[in-house]
Amino acid sequence: MTTLTSALPEIRSKIEARERISADDALWLWKNAADAEMRELAMQVRGRFHQPGTCSYMVMRIVNYTNVCVAQCDYCAFYKLPGQPGGYVLSQEQVFAKLDELLVLGGDLAAFNGGFNPHLPLDYYCELFAAIRDRYGDRLEFYALTIAEFMYLADHAKLDYAAAAERFKKAGVRWITGGGSEILTEDFRRRHSKFKYTVAEYFEAQAALVAAGLKTTATMVIGFDETIEERIEHLERTRRFQDETGGLASFLCWTFKPYFTQIGGIEITTAEYLRHLALSRIYLDNVPRIRTSVLTQNERALEGLLYGADDFDLPIEDEVTQKAGATISLGFEAILDVARRLGFSPSYRHVAAQH
Ligand code: SF4
Repeated sequence: MTTLTSALPEIRSKIEARERISADDALWLWKNAADAEMRELAMQVRGRFHQPGTCSYMVMRIVNYTNVCVAQCDYCAFYKLPGQPGGYVLSQEQVFAKLDELLVLGGDLAAFNGGFNPHLPLDYYCELFAAIRDRYGDRLEFYALTIAEFMYLADHAKLDYAAAAERFKKAGVRWITGGGSEILTEDFRRRHSKFKYTVAEYFEAQAALVAAGLKTTATMVIGFDETIEERIEHLERTRRFQDETGGLASFLCWTFKPYFTQIGGIEITTAEYLRHLALSRIYLDNVPRIRTSVLTQNERALEGLLYGADDFDLPIEDEVTQKAGATISLGFEAILDVARRLGFSPSYRHVAAQH
């Protein structure tokens, strides 16, 4: 990164002219801009994509189909090594029971997230996803896996990413999300998750998914030991990928929950999270949907709507973050009322209706 020469009037002029801000500009904003200024700039960029006072949400369930994983990320409180007590794999019937409950609660989006389980063959996944599509049709949509899991499965099955993507498409899969990204810098991954693929491999796999016609998203997790420069590098790489492929439907950032993890630490404040949301909205000028995380910030996530976000999930389960300290409320109306009190009219975004 070069020396800091930017100042607020220049950056504001760029944003008003719909010009892109640089990594140096982002660093300047982070270090110098007041929260109110970050908000104002983020809401300007938001206004290019969304009407004032509008926002959308989904009711979703993360289905943790297995907790067996060999990746050993030091920030994870969820996994069990193969053979360790407490490891599990869900059967199709157990998955169906979770999806049935999701529908009863008014949700229609499931996101599958497990681990790098060496005992599960590709057929487990393809049969599961085909059975879900067969049983639920378009009544329910599902995010099948994260990119990190997709990469592990492809490697384990000795398939290249394009061939693996075709196998999943044939099984009825439409979405593989950008999960498993955490912080997309090579150094961060060497420090914390050296068995979880490099950044270059991550984007290679995601590009293969987009080329195969599958839908995908961008994600980010903050609050480990990453520097602000690493956060900005993550945003820069995401923006560049979107320039090159146009394949990212949304960007979701959540915060690290440190409890019961190897690296431990303390949670970042909501104020810092909101500032980062604003910076993400300003920087990612080519991603229409910026999502705020109720799962990790609870009701205060809704304040993200004032910092450039336009969309959020109302989750009913996610063992990965709950094991590390996240709490979930099924009082959806109370959460939606927070958005209303902040001046927004939330509308349900039925993901199944979008296909
Ligand atoms: S974060 Fe995911 S890949 Fe890493 S150890 Fe946990 S389950 Fe495995």
